[in-house]
Parts: sequence; C-alpha cells; structure tokens
Amino acid sequence: MKILLFGKNGQVGWELNRLLPQLGEVVALGREQADLADADSLRQSIREYKPDVIVNAAAYTAVDKAEDQARQSMTINAEAPGIIAEEARGMGSLMIHYSTDYVFNGKSEQPYTEVDKPDPINVYGESKLAGEKAVQASGCHHLIFRTSWVYSSRGSNFYLTILRLASKMKEINIVSDQTGAPTWARLIAETTIEVLRSAIDEIAEGGFTSDLYHLTSRGKTSWYGFARQIIDNIKTGNGKSLSSVPVINPISSEEYPTAARRPANSSLDVSKIEKQYGLRLPEWDKSLLSFMQTVV
Ligand code: NDP
Repeated sequence: MKILLFGKNGQVGWELNRLLPQLGEVVALGREQADLADADSLRQSIREYKPDVIVNAAAYTAVDKAEDQARQSMTINAEAPGIIAEEARGMGSLMIHYSTDYVFNGKSEQPYTEVDKPDPINVYGESKLAGEKAVQASGCHHLIFRTSWVYSSRGSNFYLTILRLASKMKEINIVSDQTGAPTWARLIAETTIEVLRSAIDEIAEGGFTSDLYHLTSRGKTSWYGFARQIIDNIKTGNGKSLSSVPVINPISSEEYPTAARRPANSSLDVSKIEKQYGLRLPEWDKSLLSFMQTVV
C-alpha cells in the first residue's frame, strides 16, 4: 500500500504522518516539496509516486486573511483538491480530504447533518465547499471529513492562543455566542486511520462507496466555554502550569469584530460516521482533558 500525504506539517497532517505508516509505505510532503498552488508540480508529485491512497491535509486555513485573499484560498482549497481528485481518478486511487463546519451559515439550532444544505458566510467556507464539490465531481474513490475547531500542540489554534494570552493577561474576553465542537487533531488522524482500514478492505472487496462524513468530538460549547475548560484543566493540575490563571469573560461576536463572519452554530452531528464505522467519538471536554494530560 503506497500512501501520499499532503500537508505533513499541519496540525492534522503531523498526526497523520505519525500514524499512516501503520497502513503502508508513506511519502509525506510539505509545502517545500509540493506547493498546492502549483498545479503542474502537484500533478507531477502524484504521477511520480503512483499512490494507492492520497491524503490531503493541506489547506489555506487563515479564515480572516482569506477575506482579502480569495484567489489564493480558492486555489489551495478548491482547485488543488480538484486536481488531486482528478489524478486519483486517473490512477484508481482513494482520496481522503478534509473540510469544515464553516460550510454552514450557522442559523440552525440543531447540529448540522451531512444532508443539511451548506451555505457558507465567509470566503474560507466558500472555498472549502468548492473543494468538496470538486472532489465529489471528479468521480474518484473518496472520503471527505468535515471537522471543526481543530487544536493541537503545534501550529496556530485557539488552545495555543489562550495559553499565550493567559501567560500575560489577568482577564481575557472571549466570544460566547458561537457554538461548535473543539476537536483534537489526533482524534481526526486516529479516526481517519480506522475508517481508512475499512475503506481499503471495502475497495478490495468491491463494496466501497465514496461519501462525506462529519468528524468532530461529540457535544458542543462556545469559544468562551472552550477557554474556561482549558483554564479549569490547568487549575486542577492538568496541562501546562501557569504562574497565575486569568479570569475569562464572555463577550458577544459584535464586541469582537473580525474580517470574516463566523456561523453562530457550527456544531456537526457525528452519528453517521459513528454508525457506519461502529465508532463512539469522545465528548469534547474529555478529549481536551486527554490532550492536556498528554502534552504536559
Ligand atoms: P493547518 O493550518 O494546521 O495546516 C495546513 C497545512 O497546509 C500547513 O502545513 C500548510 O503549510 C499547508 N499548506 C498551506 N498552503 C499550502 C500550499 N500552497 N502548498 C502546500 N501546503 C500548503 O490546518 P489543520 O491541520 O488545522 O487543518 C486540516 C484540515 O482540516 C484542513 O482541510 C482544514 O481546512 C480543515 N479544518 C481545520 C479547522 C481548524 O480549526 N484548523 C476547522 C475545520 C476544518 P505551511 O505549514 O507551510 O503553512
């Protein structure tokens, strides 16, 4: 089994790069080896290696910057996945791709299911939705996982931002009117591996169906709730210790204007992937605790 991974230095890509060797021989590429903005070299890297499985964990993830860099965001999040999918189709490979909770407008009061109609309200969400559609239209064997609020001990994420602010501020104001599910990058990678194992068997037996799944922790909270939980875990001795812990205050999105609008509710229903693959995804707060106990 030959596996080609794009985005090896990202939060999810880094975790995948540790786990994918369980399934086969892995070639992992970062931006230096394969720039997703360069269509020719992207095609070439795929044709050179002729992988059985292509995992695309690379993406343009700067949600606010994307508002001013729509072209770049579309190139990396929509066109590049389309090219990868086309190549996968040509060589009969399976493509694994990731998308986002931000494909939804956030007006629903319920967690979104895979059949709910996407309606992105920012450029990043639009570009990721276009990427999903390009992969689906290609006709390649594929699995698309929509995830949300990804954190890990590397890269740019909310957990690291809170730690940074907590080390220098006595009070931190955090938005409390956006709801979603914080998700550890390792959970995404581990679940991908489990699903991939089944998919490889299904392809060999001729029973594989390409599909889209929601893959996040269970449950939901606000950014404020997420920050509170990080601080509470630190207070109870789980996670990196701080000389003093800040007070977290809830504020509204209006009080914290950003370049990109964000959905009020972007919580995703994960029952489809759980049912299909016999999984039980962890609650977001339990998973956060495991993460913080692991990264100390
Ligand atoms: P990261 O931002 O941590 O990693 C993305 C990776 O893509 C980086 O290593 C980056 O390289 C690479 N990349 C960006 N542009 C290019 C390019 N032109 N050529 C090659 N590589 C490039 O993302 P995550 O791991 O958090 O995200 C994984 C997936 O999950 C993505 O599809 C994302 O859209 C999705 N997702 C993420 C969420 C989040 O909160 N982070 C929420 C919902 C979905 P470099 O290191 O050089 O910048």
